[in-house]
Amino acid sequence: MQTPTMIDVEVVVDNFIAGTFLPCKRTLDSFDPATGKIWAKIPDSSKLEVDAAVAAAKRAFPGWSKLSYQQRAKHLLKVADLLESRLEAFAVAESRDQGKPVWLARTMDIPRAVLNLRHFAHAIPHHLNTSSVQPEAGVVNYTTREPVGVAGLISPWNLPLYLLTFKLAPALICGNTVVAKPSELTSVTAHMFCKVLQDADFPAGVVNMVYGLGNPTGEALVTHPDVPIISFTGSTATGGRIAQATAPMFKKLSLEMGGKNAAVVFSDCDLEACVATLKRASFINQGQVCLCTSRIFVQRPVYEDFLHLFVDAAKEIKVGPPTGEDVFMGPLNSKAHLEKVQRYVHYGVEDGGTIVCGEGVDLLHLTEDYKGGYYMRPTVITGLSDDSRCMQDEIFGPVTCVVPFDTEEEVVERANNSSYGLCASVWTSNVGVAHRVAQSLKVGTVWTNCWLVRDLDMPFGGVKNSGLGRESTQDSLEFYTEAKTICTKIV
Ligand code: NAD
Repeated sequence: MQTPTMIDVEVVVDNFIAGTFLPCKRTLDSFDPATGKIWAKIPDSSKLEVDAAVAAAKRAFPGWSKLSYQQRAKHLLKVADLLESRLEAFAVAESRDQGKPVWLARTMDIPRAVLNLRHFAHAIPHHLNTSSVQPEAGVVNYTTREPVGVAGLISPWNLPLYLLTFKLAPALICGNTVVAKPSELTSVTAHMFCKVLQDADFPAGVVNMVYGLGNPTGEALVTHPDVPIISFTGSTATGGRIAQATAPMFKKLSLEMGGKNAAVVFSDCDLEACVATLKRASFINQGQVCLCTSRIFVQRPVYEDFLHLFVDAAKEIKVGPPTGEDVFMGPLNSKAHLEKVQRYVHYGVEDGGTIVCGEGVDLLHLTEDYKGGYYMRPTVITGLSDDSRCMQDEIFGPVTCVVPFDTEEEVVERANNSSYGLCASVWTSNVGVAHRVAQSLKVGTVWTNCWLVRDLDMPFGGVKNSGLGRESTQDSLEFYTEAKTICTKIV
């Protein structure tokens, strides 16, 4: 791989504190996954910068939290409009930073970031208060919902702006001020977003962005005594560490973590539609969506047909530089991650599996510029036991295991044989079977005969090692506010 030089750097990211961009003396390199070259420098923020950001958010809290929901919504909607007007620039930057095809960032990530801002600005004010009258006691009860304070938001690298705004929008509309720390691997669109905030005259200090590593930057934020609420999305290992570090401080905590999601394919399903969707579910964003499918259980009568169609579909996938409009898979996000995913393909072989497709990457006829990128082909493994490493561990890349099953009871038990519980999909034309299996799967979301259809009003989150808490209009309102009951005697 070519040694990166400063000449390659195209973006310098600065911390955004109290409405001002502040350079940091210490910086980290951020690589373009398509080429393996440095393309951005980001702050390596210490506790000092985090303290400054929290102090700014704390100062801004009284003013922001006293605004009406309508006033806060007006600010958020202005940001949404401005972000939308820069959609193409954001899509190109997200692709460059993360590795996803530009078309995917253009049609999914950035539009969803705009939707996050608009949805929560409009929806949350409609879910506010409850009240009751108790005539026998001569009282009226009502609740108010109050913002919690300075919210610490920690987000991962797979859907950078999409997930950052999924936290920012509800935190802000509820009246909290924010210090956010995006992933050190994908900080560029967060930086561009701060420019949007500035251009939208968003009140200074309400949103602060600090960049850097999980430790020290993230750790300083989540353990800060003036940050009473943390929303985290990332790996289960980091979520566990944050839970442990913050438990004695009794912070409000939302954890969205890893997954090892199953698809259950019954022999009476529409096989072609199922294969087309499971191809997306397995390989979109290079398999780096927490909701991606990585274990496919296929009922034995259609097992061979499914495998044939699925492997053909996987082989047809075009892998290459993410600027190509016909490219379905760009590079993985980082060299370390590519190496991890490839290590799992070797584990698959060691554990007795067969690599049906994905081996023998010929570097895809890449031009010289892209030879250092982190590419791999979509990989399908068969013949693994349910307790093998590829069937149990979250790989978070374009690797899917396909195994046969016989009965409904058996497949429910086997699909539930996982420490994770984020989501699953069920494929059958029998509504009764779909409902029964959906009810029996120990996960936060089940899609039947579809995948990744999302309604922001619906609760999102995982069970077991996949998460703690839910996000949605109602759930986010409850998380980002404290309810207070006021009981008033009518005198
Ligand atoms: P990660 O846990 O390595 O990092 C996530 C974020 O946490 C980063 O910003 C990182 O800097 C920060 N961090 C790391 N250590 C920290 C610490 N000690 N204190 C505070 N912050 C710390 O995860 P990742 O590799 O960026 O993301 C991939 C993971 O995210 C996968 O496991 C994936 O399943 C999961 N994910 C889950 C969801 C969901 O909604 N459940 C969505 C997207 C991704």
